[in-house]
Amino acid sequence: QAKTGGRGRFCFFSAGMNDVVQQRLVLETALRQAMGTAQMQLHYQPQIDMASGRLHGVEALARWTDPRLGEIEPARFIPLAEDCGLIADLGRWALREACRQLAQWRSDGLTVPSVSVNLSPTSFHDRELARTIAQTLAQHALAPQDLTLELTESVLLDANPSTLQTIAEVRALGVRMSMDDFGTGYSSLSYLRRLPVDEIKLDRSFVADLESDGAARALSNAILEIGRSLKLTVVAEGVETAAQDSLLRAQGYAVAQGYLVARPMAGDALGGWLGRMAGR
Ligand code: C2E
Ligand code: MG
Ligand code: MG
Ligand code: MG
Repeated sequence: QAKTGGRGRFCFFSAGMNDVVQQRLVLETALRQAMGTAQMQLHYQPQIDMASGRLHGVEALARWTDPRLGEIEPARFIPLAEDCGLIADLGRWALREACRQLAQWRSDGLTVPSVSVNLSPTSFHDRELARTIAQTLAQHALAPQDLTLELTESVLLDANPSTLQTIAEVRALGVRMSMDDFGTGYSSLSYLRRLPVDEIKLDRSFVADLESDGAARALSNAILEIGRSLKLTVVAEGVETAAQDSLLRAQGYAVAQGYLVARPMAGDALGGWLGRMAGR
């Protein structure tokens, strides 16, 4: 409770702000406790090759369920993990867990070409990242191409000098790099020159406006052309409707991810989903 009166000069928080601070502390403590327990899970969203209908890969997405607070969205806990110094741990955990799951699917006889893991810029401050990844891949008998790292343009906004070197080391292993939320950054095109990537993901804000907005259509078309001329895989994110799907197909998009195909699901649900897809 914020103190008012006598010692008021020490109190810069209004009662309302104090609530926010309090709530944040509760959440931060809960997040600390959740790390490394079953409260923190990865779910996986299929990415589909639009021509064949086959699985292109899956994207791993963190899911946190607190016993008292319930499900908390990544949009809330990822920035929190950044702020309280837990994001590097989360990134390492996600890498290990996604690789473990991919190896598990394969030993169950499922055809899963690759898994994509989201990493925050902070993960690239870790000079051991490439070594950790190489060890994890080896531990599960996976090839470097089985793993894709999704990063956003903000990875180059922070001025840490080791970032570009770490990215180069990871890529030298043969791990694929994907630029997430493409088109939403400050200067996406100049980033493409500075950052070696294998894939770009058309941000879902473009996809959402495809039907209603000619400018969104023109931009998604231009982004596809950029990807093609740089020989990159281009993935359309957030495809929700059949109309969006056919507009993207008409433009020549080859890989789609979104609720139309499937929502993110637990790792042990993927086999059943693949079976139903094959039966269609
Ligand atoms: P992102 O990497 O761009 O992931 C795609 C987000 O769009 C996911 O939200 C996914 O559930 C959602 N999505 C997929 N298809 C559709 C669709 O058709 N319609 C709509 N409306 N949404 C769709 P999610 O899981 O809530 O994650 C949000 C963001 O949080 C991610 O965006 C990513 O930036 C971050 N994030 C999630 N997991 C991790 C993680 O393990 N590590 C890090 N560093 N960031 C993560
Ligand atoms: Mg992503
Ligand atoms: Mg994205
Ligand atoms: Mg996003």
